[in-house]
Amino acid sequence: MKFKVKDNWHSCKIKNFKKVFEYKKKPTAEKNFKIKGEYRRSFYECPSCNHFFAFHNFKTANLYNKDYLDLTYKDEKGISERFNQISKLPIKKSDNKNRALRVNSFIKKRSNILDVGCGTGVFLYEIKKKGHKVIGFDIDERYKNFLKKKKINVITKNLNKLRNKKKFDLISFNKVLEHVPDPLKNLKESKRLLKRDGIIYIEVPDVMAKLKGKFSGEFCLDHLQIFSISSLDNLARCAGLLTVKIKRIIEPSNKYTIYGFFKKIK
Ligand SMILES: [Zn+2]
Repeated sequence: MKFKVKDNWHSCKIKNFKKVFEYKKKPTAEKNFKIKGEYRRSFYECPSCNHFFAFHNFKTANLYNKDYLDLTYKDEKGISERFNQISKLPIKKSDNKNRALRVNSFIKKRSNILDVGCGTGVFLYEIKKKGHKVIGFDIDERYKNFLKKKKINVITKNLNKLRNKKKFDLISFNKVLEHVPDPLKNLKESKRLLKRDGIIYIEVPDVMAKLKGKFSGEFCLDHLQIFSISSLDNLARCAGLLTVKIKRIIEPSNKYTIYGFFKKIK
């Protein structure tokens, strides 16, 4: 078994990670990822920054093919139902509406916003209502087709091609970096799409979710790492970003989350 993410940004220089959680069978609530062979996985904690790294042998890259969306929403009708269900929630119960408020009150001016890993697009839909221009990025065409009906443009490949055409005031990564094998690379690439004084907004699961136990959603199979304030700050610094604000919250859905606003180091 091995660690599932590049730790090229993790500078604690400590090797004696401590095993915190171990799973010997599929948690009942977990989506059926059709894991072949024995189900064994664990999380290890860095004793210095408290960051969690996932440790197992599953091929997580394969989780994000067509099957991932099939498992999650089935088809475009499923996406549409999910969208309606989430966007109907009152603000008290909506992670997305609170996120849109948070981002909107931080940026203060009309902005060009790119949301990386936009999914069903509820966040973009909400923040667009506040007068911003929005565009999404996601790998599955079905999100693109669905969001076209909501007048939201989604790019499904080659984000880098945008580089010379368009620069953004804000790029958001909402619960994305915990899923990718090389978050440092993704952040560095996105910086090229950011205006000089642009902002990167990041949301990741918080290690404090350990208080809710190992079956809490923050520690699901498709999360390759879970962040602490210092590890997120560290990752951002490695990517050449300056932390403007970073905070722990418990979202309306009871997710333990860390969010932050970052800007380019000039
Ligand atoms: Zn560390």
